[in-house]
Amino acid sequence: MTGSWRYVAAATTIVLLSAIWYVWWVLTGAGPVAIGFLFMPLVMAVGGLAIRDLRRSVPLAPAGRRFWRPVEICAYLFAAGFALLAAEAFRIGPELPSMPPAAAALICSGVLLAMWGVASVPLGVTSRYERGKQWLDRAIALLGCSAVLWHFGIAPMVLAPEPWTVSALTILLLACAFAAGSITKVSYIAGGPVDRSAMRLVASTGLCAAGVALLSVIGGYEGAVPAQALCMPLSGLLLALAARRQRAAAKASVRPGNVWLPYLAVLAVDVPVADVLFRPEHWGPGAWEGRLIVLVAVVVTALVAVRQYVVFRENTRLLREKQASEARLRHEATHDPLTGLANRALFRQWLDEALTSGDATVLLVDLDDFKTVNDSLGHDVGDGLLVGFAGALCEAAGLDGSVARLAGDEFAVLITDADRGAAVAERVMAATAAPISSHRLLVHVSAGLATAPAGTAASQLLRDADAAMYAAKQRGKANWVRYAAGMEQPAQAHARLGGDLRRALDDGEFRLFYQPIIGLADGRIIGVEALVRWFHPERGLVPPIEFIPAAERTGLIVPLGRWVLREACRQAAEWLAEFGPDALNKVAPNVSVLQLHDPDFVTDVRAALADHGLGPDRLVLELTESAVLRGQRVLRVLHELHDMGVRLALDDFGTGESSLSLLRSFPASIVKLDKSFVDGIELDEPGTAAADARQAVARAVVQLAGALGLDTVAEGIENQEQADRLHRLGYTVGQGYHLGRPVSAEEMTARFAAQRSAAAAA
Ligand code: C2E
Ligand code: CA
Ligand code: CA
Repeated sequence: MTGSWRYVAAATTIVLLSAIWYVWWVLTGAGPVAIGFLFMPLVMAVGGLAIRDLRRSVPLAPAGRRFWRPVEICAYLFAAGFALLAAEAFRIGPELPSMPPAAAALICSGVLLAMWGVASVPLGVTSRYERGKQWLDRAIALLGCSAVLWHFGIAPMVLAPEPWTVSALTILLLACAFAAGSITKVSYIAGGPVDRSAMRLVASTGLCAAGVALLSVIGGYEGAVPAQALCMPLSGLLLALAARRQRAAAKASVRPGNVWLPYLAVLAVDVPVADVLFRPEHWGPGAWEGRLIVLVAVVVTALVAVRQYVVFRENTRLLREKQASEARLRHEATHDPLTGLANRALFRQWLDEALTSGDATVLLVDLDDFKTVNDSLGHDVGDGLLVGFAGALCEAAGLDGSVARLAGDEFAVLITDADRGAAVAERVMAATAAPISSHRLLVHVSAGLATAPAGTAASQLLRDADAAMYAAKQRGKANWVRYAAGMEQPAQAHARLGGDLRRALDDGEFRLFYQPIIGLADGRIIGVEALVRWFHPERGLVPPIEFIPAAERTGLIVPLGRWVLREACRQAAEWLAEFGPDALNKVAPNVSVLQLHDPDFVTDVRAALADHGLGPDRLVLELTESAVLRGQRVLRVLHELHDMGVRLALDDFGTGESSLSLLRSFPASIVKLDKSFVDGIELDEPGTAAADARQAVARAVVQLAGALGLDTVAEGIENQEQADRLHRLGYTVGQGYHLGRPVSAEEMTARFAAQRSAAAAA
């Protein structure tokens, strides 16, 4: 038997013994009555020891200790007080003892201590409102309980023709107050250091006292003995059980306070009120007890009214808060948090409504190259740009349309008057002519305009506008297009392409073709440019122009470019092994700007070279001007590559806007004169402005490159005259169909072999 059960068993034994003694006494009338007074001090001592054992052996929270300690002392005080009473009982013999003042003092202080313990148990609620409401509830419950205990228990004793001694009355009064106070308190403990059931057991000891009162009032002398022998010892057992209960208490669970108690208390107070009402003896001039009960009833009613008012006010506040948060949620669900514009869901709603009552026009607007801005300048700048553009778009839409942000960089305007569509589109284009946002960025947008008659599905209208927008992008961006039938076909094909690419990369449908880069003086192969090809199982050979843009948009260019880089290095190493170190000087794959943003790019390049044993000086990375003009991060990557010994070539040179200034900041080794300056350069048409300009650019580029110590390659040479003219201008290296078309690796191998045998023959 564990320690705690031992105390329960001991207390139970005492209670049983006292009951047996009482039965025996009633039946035989033998022996001194004083024996009946012995059980109470014994059982109380056991109760105190049970709590002591609990405090010693269980780690209690400080608040728990603050409760159990006073209760334990209370038990000892009771034991001592009732021991004095028993001694008095033995002293005066067969008479019933009256409570000696010392005993009464001990017992009263015990009850006061226990009250203190109960009062110090924290309720576990924090909000001011909850605390206030609980005080009201507890006051109501306390008054209700007390009114009943008082009216039916104590008042009859006080008003009896032979009133009880003051000390006995005080004890009862306190015990009742303790019971009422702790019962109401225990109903509101939200969970905490003191187990609720344990506290309920402790509170019930107060009810034992009330039981004693009742028995004594009803029974007089006959009642006082059973009260002592039967009722009082139970309280010791209750304490032992409470200690046992606390020990077994699992982790405190949190639960809301008792909702019904105040209402029960109101009903309870009605019982003595009704009693007063129907018993005329309560009405007389001296019947202060009746008036007291009515007064308590009035106070309880007033408290209930106050409580209702407080709850009502709180409910109103909560309702207001709820409405506000609902409105906020509604707004959040239908608006874009960044720009504050309507979101796609709300736009769809507008569109559905518009299409039920008439025709509707949608302008779909998409920022060109937003992804690159975001990647190169960072998300904060990107966000700023979106917010700035949203403002510009709203201004441009004016009263003619409602603006929404559908996704990332995709906006839409719902235009109610179809005739105003073109005007809105023009204003949107004009709005992007000036720099946007605090970063003064220049953005271009592509837009698609579509109108649908009433009854059309909103999704159909959006698809049309999307097709028109796609057409606008195809036409070179920064413009708008009105939807026409059949426009969706390229857009659909394009959407399919994105999915196809991923699969193609997994299935190994890509191949590299190689175009020789030739010395113009002797026709020898100096290097090769690697150009990717897609051998589509159904469409056959797909040129890069048709899928590189899609690969860039989907981000697939990064893994694809990684493959190109590795394959080019592998192939170059193979040729060098087969044809010797002089067979080719360099291999030149193309690199997309997105690859430069890939944090692993430099590592990938280093690994591709190392894995195939290729020297970094054999690798040339071809970059376009727009790619290298992408901020500090990219520039750092380029310098890192340059420091590794990898050479960088500026592709399509001369077509960009800032070619010349670029050459100073950028660690390029090679410039590739764009094909557009080579086209027609051989035509001797002095006086033709176009021919003069081309020659001037070609000459300027070669001179500038020479001054800066850069190599040059002239691209797109299609005949011997062009080759000669460029050679005369100072170009020593060229590339073009005339010198060699891009061919498969096998054909290129054959060409190397031919060059080797030609050299051997010479
Ligand atoms: P690019 O880098 O300017 O490549 C030169 C393009 O001009 C190649 O087209 C080539 O076949 C073509 N070309 C060469 N000589 C002549 C000529 O004498 N006349 C004419 N009319 N064209 C000539 P291709 O292979 O279709 O590539 C087109 C573009 O696709 C390339 O332009 C390059 O920007 C891109 N590209 C190709 N392969 C890759 C790759 O692996 N990665 C990346 N990021 N881009 C690639
Ligand atoms: Ca190139
Ligand atoms: Ca080029």
